[in-house]
Amino acid sequence: MGGNRKYRYGDENYDNPVCPVCGEECQTLYLQDGNVIGCDSCVDEKSAWEWWDEYQDQFSHTGF
Ligand SMILES: [Zn+2]
Repeated sequence: MGGNRKYRYGDENYDNPVCPVCGEECQTLYLQDGNVIGCDSCVDEKSAWEWWDEYQDQFSHTGF
């Protein structure tokens, strides 16, 4: 059976480490307080300044 084989967390047949969040094989896991929050395939990186600009933008339209 070929195709898009998905591994589940706890599956003993996987070849590579699998992200418990998205189920993809991955090289890097991201943790917060010891808990996995994602991996290099399901977590996006963003420039802090870009995010900050968008974040502040939300409050500039509220009328305050
Ligand atoms: Zn993932």
